Amino acid sequence: MKFSKFNLLKEYSIFFWLILITISGLFIFNIYSTNKSQQNSKIKSSLDNIYLKKTIKEITKNLEPRYTTINYKSKPGDTYQGIINKLDITQNEKNLLLKTIQNENALKILKINQKFEFKFDNLDDQKVINFKIETDKKNEILFEKILNKQKYVSKKIKKNFTKQLSYKETIITDSLYNSAVNLGIKPNIIIEFARLYGFQIDFQRDIWKNDSFQIIYEEFLNEDNKVIDTGEIIFANLSLQNTDLQLYKYEYEKNKIDYFDESGKSIKKTLMKTPINGARLSSSYGKRKHPILGYTKMHTGTDFAAPMGTPIMASGDGKVIKAGWCGGGGNCVKIKHNSTYQTVYAHMSKFGRGIKRGVRVKQGQIIGYVGSTGLSTGPHLHYEVIENGRKINSQKLKLPSGKVLKGEDRKKFEVTKIKIDVLKSNLIANLN
Ligand SMILES: [Zn+2]
Repeated sequence: MKFSKFNLLKEYSIFFWLILITISGLFIFNIYSTNKSQQNSKIKSSLDNIYLKKTIKEITKNLEPRYTTINYKSKPGDTYQGIINKLDITQNEKNLLLKTIQNENALKILKINQKFEFKFDNLDDQKVINFKIETDKKNEILFEKILNKQKYVSKKIKKNFTKQLSYKETIITDSLYNSAVNLGIKPNIIIEFARLYGFQIDFQRDIWKNDSFQIIYEEFLNEDNKVIDTGEIIFANLSLQNTDLQLYKYEYEKNKIDYFDESGKSIKKTLMKTPINGARLSSSYGKRKHPILGYTKMHTGTDFAAPMGTPIMASGDGKVIKAGWCGGGGNCVKIKHNSTYQTVYAHMSKFGRGIKRGVRVKQGQIIGYVGSTGLSTGPHLHYEVIENGRKINSQKLKLPSGKVLKGEDRKKFEVTKIKIDVLKSNLIANLN
């Protein structure tokens, strides 16, 4: 019997355990549910908490860089106000920036392609911590915010650039301008090149196909190795029909720069008033009674009496456009110096060696000898200067003085010239 009683208890105990497990399961589930809803409401209320909201904002803000830079280049029609209005800053800050710019004398006029750079501190209420405005390609003004003050201080700064010398050479195939542009030479250098040679040549007519030029000039590079500006021409050579016209930059006095040819003559060529040595002015420009024709006529030149055979010089660099018989002028030579000036030399006994139409001559070169050919009463040179097609009085000619380097100046120039020639060889060697 004892045995059966025990068995019965054992059977009931299974029930007991089942009930216990069920109850505790329900109980745990209940606790879990309560807890979960409590947690949810806790999170909900936390999200509403201003402090946390701010923290989240700070965190997302910090994911963006704290400092940002905005670059801008002014376009036609821009104003300072218009540019500032594009910035994401308060109206107060915009007003402050505009006032700051307007107080800067160097920025009175807004130019096209002027560069702006604004640096932002995105955590600050007054965001712009500094800004830069270019005044020209090599200079800019930096405005820096004074700490905790509604004010900027300005500072002029030289931009970080390096100077390099550029060597270019080419054969002229169509025009000098196109050939230069094709080499990547900047227009202001081409204009300067043409200006320097303007005293000697007529760009419309003197340049032929297959003439060539060489040039060395300064270039300014920014940090990205981009050419931002050009400086001065150091050397140039224009080779026209196999005649070299070289020019060297030389500082002949402090801060006084000019260009000289290889023999130290300024390229700012003047015309000689007296293209003959040891001559006497025998008849000046103006109205006079013609010695042969006998009536009063305008004398459109200047006469220099000189012994037969006295050498006559070209009064300036140029090209011979006539060397032949001129009727009353006898044997005459006409030289074209540039697009403005021409000179005429008449009554020659004979022409200088190699002087013929199309030949290029240098100032002082012998082009002929005094004679009495044509309508002439005795050996003399009849000399005419033609300015823009009109005959003028050569003795009243006002042209830049054609400086010639002499003595110590010449020695210093020779040193400069050698240095430039060496530089040129190095630059050419670097090309190959
Ligand atoms: Zn005359």
